Amino acid sequence: MDTSDRYLRQTTLPEIGDIGQERLRGSTVLVVGCGALGSNSAEIVARAGVGSITLVDSDIVEMGNLQRQGLLGEPDVGEHKAEAVARALQRINSEIEIDYKVVRISADNIERLLHGVDLVLDGFDNMPSRYLLNDACVKHDIPWVFAAVAGMFGMTMPIIPHRTACLRCLSPDPVPDEFVLTAGNAGLINTIPRAIVSMQVTSGLKILLGALDGPAFLTTYDIWSNQFTSLEIERGDDCPCCARAQYPFLEQIPPLS
Ligand SMILES: [Zn+2]
Repeated sequence: MDTSDRYLRQTTLPEIGDIGQERLRGSTVLVVGCGALGSNSAEIVARAGVGSITLVDSDIVEMGNLQRQGLLGEPDVGEHKAEAVARALQRINSEIEIDYKVVRISADNIERLLHGVDLVLDGFDNMPSRYLLNDACVKHDIPWVFAAVAGMFGMTMPIIPHRTACLRCLSPDPVPDEFVLTAGNAGLINTIPRAIVSMQVTSGLKILLGALDGPAFLTTYDIWSNQFTSLEIERGDDCPCCARAQYPFLEQIPPLS
């Protein structure tokens, strides 16, 4: 099979080119969570030619996931999401390395999972897990791209430790679960994950290409009312995480998600 023109549409772009494509080929991306966000972001980075992708999720595919899940269908119900998504990615692009782990991410294993990773794409469904990821990424200086969706609404922000604001610059502590809208308690229109993931992965590709300059912007989008905001987030001089190197979420041993 001749695959020489696989990336032609993006190597034609001056923002990527052949040199950028080689950088993507040499990059390793970790996708945490293979739900509405992670399955869709994993598909895009695989099609873009990111050379090594690892998927992490402990859940089983359920019929109720198919309304919003990328890549998966009825035959996958009952299988581990990470394994089923990995299989789908390999069909899309056999020239990249795809690995998966069926584990619950916790303070006990997250630092090992980050070993050798250039970028993390957030596909979590809860805020405490994102605070754990933020602590681990800031401690090990690994960029990640926050993304969250619920109802008609979603948001995303790229985080480059010690250069842009981190999640704890934005909000020092996670808002308690009972005050947070989630897909579980608010439902989810199936168009918003793809809209948010498109912005999230674009930020991720820019980070891998060394093209994300300037401060971080928190982008929010309500896809039903078509309300879009982009807010510059400044680093907190006194941020407990990225300014004072305190990582309390890494001390919590019980699994968070
Ligand atoms: Zn911070």
